[in-house]
Formats: sequence, C-alpha cells, structure tokens
Amino acid sequence: MKQEHIDALRHQTIPDQGLLIDGQWAAAASGQALPVVSPIDGQQLCTIAAAGAVDVDRAVQAARRSFEQGVWSRMAPAERKKILHRIADRIEAHHAELAVLGVRDNGTEIAMAWKAEPGSAAGTFRYYAECVDKINGEIAPTPEGTLGLIHKEAVGVVGAIVPWNFPLMIGAWKIAPALAAGNSVVLKPSEDASLSLLRLAQLCLDAGLPAGVLNVVTGSGAEAGEALARHMDVDILTFTGSGPVGRMLLKASAESNLKRVYLELGGKSPNVVFEDAPDLAQAAKVSAMGIFRNSGQVCVAGSRLLVQRSVHDEFVDRLQNIASSLRVGDPLDVTMDIGAVSSARQLTRNQSMLARALEQGARLRTGGQVIAPVPGGQFMSPAVLDGVQPEMEIARQEVFGPVLAVMPFDDEAHAVRLANGTEYGLAAGVWTGSLSRAHRMVRAIKAGLVHVNTYGGPDITVPLGGVRQSGNGHDKSMHALDKYLDLKTAWIQL
Ligand code: NAD
Repeated sequence: MKQEHIDALRHQTIPDQGLLIDGQWAAAASGQALPVVSPIDGQQLCTIAAAGAVDVDRAVQAARRSFEQGVWSRMAPAERKKILHRIADRIEAHHAELAVLGVRDNGTEIAMAWKAEPGSAAGTFRYYAECVDKINGEIAPTPEGTLGLIHKEAVGVVGAIVPWNFPLMIGAWKIAPALAAGNSVVLKPSEDASLSLLRLAQLCLDAGLPAGVLNVVTGSGAEAGEALARHMDVDILTFTGSGPVGRMLLKASAESNLKRVYLELGGKSPNVVFEDAPDLAQAAKVSAMGIFRNSGQVCVAGSRLLVQRSVHDEFVDRLQNIASSLRVGDPLDVTMDIGAVSSARQLTRNQSMLARALEQGARLRTGGQVIAPVPGGQFMSPAVLDGVQPEMEIARQEVFGPVLAVMPFDDEAHAVRLANGTEYGLAAGVWTGSLSRAHRMVRAIKAGLVHVNTYGGPDITVPLGGVRQSGNGHDKSMHALDKYLDLKTAWIQL
C-alpha cells in the first residue's frame, strides 16, 4: 500500500451507477437515483440507481431463471470453482482501485480498508472456491434392503442485504458461499456504501459468472430492501445490519413466503481485563483499536471495557493516553489511525448518545468532539468514558461509533454478570495470564466469538455469528455453507 498509488486513484471520476439485472446494467424503472456523498469532504461522487419493487422483481426473476436453467447451479463443480478463483484473481488485480473506491464511499481509514475489504474479499472467494467440489452428500445407516441418501442441494434464489461498514468483506461473506453452493443471488448493498460492491459485480461478470447469477439492486432499505424481503420467490434472506431492521425482515418473511431469514446483527461487546493480564500496555493498545478502528463502526467492536478494580485507574490512564494520541483525519492518508464517520446521520447518533451518557453521570476522559481535519467531512475524536453504570444507555445499547464505556469489576463472577448484562451476544475479549480462567470465561460469556489476550482478527476459517439479540446465523467458515444448502432425503427400497 503506497501513498502515491492511492493519490493516483483518489480523484478518479465515478460514473453514475445502474442496477445489475440479468447481466445488464440499467437505470431504475422509475428513473430515480440517490446521490452518493463522500463522508471525507461532503462532495457528491456520483449517483446510484434507486431500485423499486419493479426492479427487484426483475432481478429476482433473472436469478430464478438462471437457477432453473442450470447455467450455474448445474455447471460442473470444477468449472464453478475455476470461476470463483478467477473472481478472486480479479479482486486482487483491482485491489487498490476497490480499496480507494470503498474508502471514498464510506470513510474507513485506508490501512484498515486495504486489508479488510479487497484483501479479505479475495481470500473469501478463494476459500469458498475450494469448497465447491467438497460438498458431499451422505448415506444413512439404514436397515438391510433400504438405502437412505441425504442430498445437499442449492436452495435457489438467495436475497442478501448488507450494511455500509465493510461492504466488500461482508458482501463476499454472503455472495461467495451462496455461489459455491450453486445458488443465484440478488444483492442489496447499503445506500451508504454501494460502489465497491457494484464494481465487484462487474468483476464477477468479467471472470465468467453467467448472466443472472449475481444481480445487484441498489437503493433505499425501505423500498429496495423491503421489496426483496417480501418477495414471494426469494428462498432465503441473509442479512447483516441493525436489530430493528432484522426484526422487520422476520415480519416480512412471516407475512410473505416464510423464507428463511439469517440475521447477523449488532452488539455491545464486553472486553474484560483482569489484573493478571500478561501485558497491560499491550492490552490497552489492542483494546483501544478494538473499539476505535473504523471510527467504532465495527459490529464486534469491544465497546464496553470491564477492568478489574485493582488495575482500573492505571488502565484507564493508559487508554486515555492512547486514544488522545490517535491520528484522526483523511482516511486516504496512509498515516491516519482513524478515518471518517460514515454519514452525518451516524455522527449525529454518536453525539446524542454521548450527550445522554454525560447527562446520566458518565465522565468524559478524552475525545468525543466533532472535528474537521478535512473541510466538509464527518469526523469524531475517539471518546473514553468512565464512571459508567451498568443500567445506563451507554452500557447497554450499541453506539456504532468511537465511544468506549469503561466499568470496574471486583472478581470473576462480577465480570461475568456485567459481561452478560445486555440483550446482545456477538463478541467479547478476555485478558488474563491464567489458562484456566481464560477457558472458564470463554464458557461463561454469552457470545458467538470470545477473544483471549487479543481483540479482532479472526480469519475466514472460523464462524462469525451472534447469540441472543445479536443474530441467528453464521458467516465465514465451512459452517456458512449450511445456510445456502437444503437437505433432501431419497429413501430407496432395494
Ligand atoms: P441497517 O440495518 O440500517 O441497514 C443494513 C441494510 O439493511 C442496508 O442495506 C439497508 O438499506 C437495509 N434496510 C434498511 N431498512 C430496511 C428494510 N425496511 N427492509 C429491508 N432492508 C432494509 O444497518 P447499517 O446501519 O447499514 O449497519 C450497522 C449495523 O450493522 C450495526 O448494528 C452493526 O452492528 C451491524 N453489523 C453487524 C455485523 C455482524 O456480522 N453481526 C457486521 C457489520 C455490521
């Protein structure tokens, strides 16, 4: 990643974007479009087509047709595998372009976006390319004279709705396994970050993915998203986003065709530091980035820091020093630690939750200011709050911004009570030098992912999913394939 490569791409003109339906790019039937405004400087980059129910219906029909014709679903697995690898090749060849495009759209600092966006998307396509010819059926242990075969079949048409914080990475977590299993897909990116996914869709076509197998409908959640969620011919819906929208999708399924709905939602993840942590300086450094990278807009962000009382003051001092020294600014400058907040709406939400926390008695140790390192952009300095009480909103609800809520605890039992004291269960961290305590905490914390002596970084080989109100499905790993496969039994009299 070199600054001159990024600078060469940062001012490229971006044409207005259409919908991808059946291998063709086209405007929305209504002719409507939404402006794409960069959070870096408030400049309009281009427009995206605002799909309505008519466009979504055309996209679903194209997906269904391609599925039934078998252009992908019945293509030999070895051929499908080659195409998925070719998609990964294309992503790698366009790494810098995809990374810069995505950052101009959503403001993530380039150092992070470089690895997490095209870097991880390419790896995800390779991982699932290698799965295509390893999806085996089963033979059941049935009585003499009978044969029970368990087939694994593609489900059909997959609707995928994704958020703005890591569009390419999360989009790939859904598209790649869905395609590996032989499905056709209709993707609905976030209206706040569609550009890198639209570019990915073109790269998929260039790599030889047949027309209609991947369709992209951009536009608002209320129109395009809702139409996809309520469509009678979508077989499953895979979603990453907020809890309130997750609830609406379950309702839409219940009121339409009972499509299966997989939800990857938000969290208020506890990061628990014990006095016996092997290296408190390292724990503070990693914990700070565990909440502040991408301006806190990370689903697994360790946004609740629980610190054992004996080391609490020392640890909070360290964190305050680290947070106040982080460089916040132009996300396309490779030296920045933190980029822009993705939208004015999100910045307002961050500020109001921070203000309510202060009203309720939390103390601001550092940060929390709206700043303007680039004129016209949306930026916020990382905030550390102590004096937080477990019943405060800031200790219970997701901000999705650079705000860390710190609380002390007395012993292990107290830490577990606090850690499990929200409606969420996405991720957690534990810092301890005791192997036994680490294992006890992994078992006791209600979350889909528990880090020990680190925070962030699990790769594609392990699942990511939440429990409780953080969701009900898993992205990543071989387990993600299960969402995109149906089981069919053949019972045969011999
Ligand atoms: P969001 O729920 O507002 O939007 C997500 C997607 O849903 C967007 O594409 C949006 O257009 C669409 N949508 C909105 N309303 C809709 C409706 N009525 N019907 C259908 N679709 C609709 O979430 P966001 O603000 O884009 O993302 C932030 C949230 O995502 C946070 O809560 C964060 O924790 C969560 N998230 C979770 C994970 C995970 O893996 N669990 C990963 C990243 C983000």
